[in-house]
Amino acid sequence: MHLARFPRYRLGHFPTPLERLDRLSAVLGGPEIWIKRDDCTGLASGGNKTRKLEFLVAEALAQGADTLVTQGATQSNHVRQTAAAAARVGLHCHALLERRVTNQGAEYETAGNVLLDVMMECRIDFRPAGLDMNAEAAMLAETLRSQGCKPYVIPGGGSNPVGALGYAACAEELIGQADAAGLRIDHIVHATGSAGTQAGLVAGLFAMNAPVPVTGFSVRAPRPRQIDTVHALAVQTAELIGARGELPRDMVMVRDDQVGPGYGQPTEAMIEAILLLAQTEGILLDPVYSGKGFAGLVALVRAGAFAKSERVVFLHTGGSVALFAYGHLFQTQKAA
Ligand SMILES: *Cc1c(COP(=O)(O)O)cnc(C)c1O
Repeated sequence: MHLARFPRYRLGHFPTPLERLDRLSAVLGGPEIWIKRDDCTGLASGGNKTRKLEFLVAEALAQGADTLVTQGATQSNHVRQTAAAAARVGLHCHALLERRVTNQGAEYETAGNVLLDVMMECRIDFRPAGLDMNAEAAMLAETLRSQGCKPYVIPGGGSNPVGALGYAACAEELIGQADAAGLRIDHIVHATGSAGTQAGLVAGLFAMNAPVPVTGFSVRAPRPRQIDTVHALAVQTAELIGARGELPRDMVMVRDDQVGPGYGQPTEAMIEAILLLAQTEGILLDPVYSGKGFAGLVALVRAGAFAKSERVVFLHTGGSVALFAYGHLFQTQKAA
């Protein structure tokens, strides 16, 4: 694997820290839990989309684009980081937000990520739930082209082979950190949505011959469908990287027991997990992705899925900005 062969525009602070969670590990009484801080990538409060955008934005600039077009759910962390990347390199940004979640607090459509999108001059248009959002973005790009703009379309979550290169790079960075410190990593756990994070990680580990199992906790799709999506993108990404051989399907491990009522819908386990990490380590997760991924890790530890001697890395994919759109879930302490 030689990722410098691909154009990349530096947007984030890398390497992100790899930290041991002593208080959390003691409270849970299971394996040694570590965290890879991709919530600290630095771009307008960070998150996993920054790594993908380094490769996507480089391609947009190489193509002479003047506008980034993308889409996501209303509280999309991806749209917020894309808006920040556009501001950083001097491109316009136009995003479509799908009203996929409509039963949350009054501030859901104005606070959190949406506030930051608007502050960074991202043009926003809402769409009702259930449309083919990538098709909607393609139509928007067509309209922009007819007006003389040069749009570059980034798929939802930045999840295509070019974006997934960012997580092949993360796999290399993480294994490098572990090797330098003499740490054996037995398992990686994270939240999976549009699939680029897990696909890139798995493709990178495959290309490096580093047999670390990765479990993605789905935040939306049922397990079989999420495995298909991640595996298909991992195969394409491995091919782009130039890895030899066929990436085996059993490298893609997905669980869907933390989705709850649906995408962006709170669960008790998510709320408990967010409070647990905040109160033991002072680290903030998010209600839609990392909170559910971390709830999945906690459930696995409690079920005895790991030996005490094992070392598990939770990949923190960011998103805490969305806490401000879900504030009603966490106002546990009333003013005196
Ligand atoms: C987008 C996102 C994910 C999921 O990553 P994918 O690459 O879309 O699977 C996880 N956590 C957070 C905070 C995200 O914003």
